Amino acid sequence: MDAAQPTIGFIGLGIMGRPMARNLLKAGYPLIVRDVVPEAVADLVAAGATAGASAREVAAVADVLITMLPDSPDVEQVYLGQDGAFEALRPGWLAIDMSSIAPSTSRVLAERAKAAGAETLDAPVSGGDKGAQAGTLSIMVGGSPEAFERGRPILEALGKTIVHVGPAGAGQVVKAANQVVVALVIGAVSEGLLLATKAGADPDRVVEILQGGLASTRVLEMRRENMLGGHFEPGFRVRLHLKDLRNALTLARETGVVLPLTAEVEQQMQALRIAGRGELDHSSLITMLEDLAGFRVADARAATQGAPH
Ligand code: NAD
Repeated sequence: MDAAQPTIGFIGLGIMGRPMARNLLKAGYPLIVRDVVPEAVADLVAAGATAGASAREVAAVADVLITMLPDSPDVEQVYLGQDGAFEALRPGWLAIDMSSIAPSTSRVLAERAKAAGAETLDAPVSGGDKGAQAGTLSIMVGGSPEAFERGRPILEALGKTIVHVGPAGAGQVVKAANQVVVALVIGAVSEGLLLATKAGADPDRVVEILQGGLASTRVLEMRRENMLGGHFEPGFRVRLHLKDLRNALTLARETGVVLPLTAEVEQQMQALRIAGRGELDHSSLITMLEDLAGFRVADARAATQGAPH
């Protein structure tokens, strides 16, 4: 281990945070971790990290803190709450919040840190759980150029495409746009697959054709087996994508932009959550349309595969 490496604190060891923290250990960074789920912490401790008893303790030990939490209120609690990270705020300290949250919350954290001579970056990611495991995430970063340069070598252990997109909050703005596009593509793919399959086409052949032309998409590359097989273990939870769409719609209101398609898919994801599917992968959006059509693509596929050619 390189003695010159800064100690990194990592809070939020979920689907994304756990493999990201492992990649930091692999890159040789001393790591102190925290999650409210003890099993997640134990996993990282077994891999060589130490455990912190509170966000404040993690922040006090760490030269650089990384957070990967679900939503704005979780980030507020971890930074600003009792025993929170900002109780250890000090000049020269850096925090990198990689959660996808409201840009306004990122700006509040940046201002508080700046007042104490410290810095923050908002650095949300895309690339999913597979990108987190492989260390190939795309990372969109908001904050000062100086803080970006300081954070960059650490982010390079987590991602492949690392872009400074502007001042505090700018990373979250770009992430909101990313989530709008992904949600709408999932909606489009769901409608196309359902239409063709209920009208009698073989869904595997439909995907083959879509992926060979202008309609091709990473969503089908990454989620083909979920959508055709009817398996929706996350991946990326509906509950979290719903949160992203709400952040995007709030930003749209603040900015004076109209997002009719986003509003539609936000309601579809809301319906999924009400139906008890909030913890499923976001590709389960197709099940909401399947309910309305009284038809399951996965059942049709199983019947086709079972049938003699
Ligand atoms: P997750 O729910 O799997 O993980 C979140 C973790 O934070 C959990 O382990 C939870 O116990 C922990 N946590 C919550 N509150 C805490 C607190 N107060 N103190 C300590 N730990 C706390 O979520 P995830 O899928 O890892 O996503 C994390 C963030 O990354 C979200 O903002 C999400 O939108 C974003 N994101 C996820 C994906 C994906 O594919 N899963 C992709 C890109 C971005």
